[in-house]
Amino acid sequence: MTYKYRCNTCQAGGSAPTKASVNELRADHRRTAHGGLIPDGEELTGPPPLFPREVLRPYLNLARLGLIALGLICFLILTIAQACDPAAP
Ligand SMILES: [Zn+2]
Repeated sequence: MTYKYRCNTCQAGGSAPTKASVNELRADHRRTAHGGLIPDGEELTGPPPLFPREVLRPYLNLARLGLIALGLICFLILTIAQACDPAAP
């Protein structure tokens, strides 16, 4: 994950691995290039947001196997309950 800083006033920019470090980069640029003032048009971008589908994708096969196992357990419970029912013919 990379965070990027871009100052459109003087076309300077940089990137950092964490949000705290890119904030430090921005503060350092403001201090050295703009006398501590906030320049117009500066951008601070981070990595794109994660969607639940992307986060859960590695676990989809595990979820499918879990549902199949749950179905088999329910089938066995119903089969045993029917076999043990004294009223059944
Ligand atoms: Zn600047």
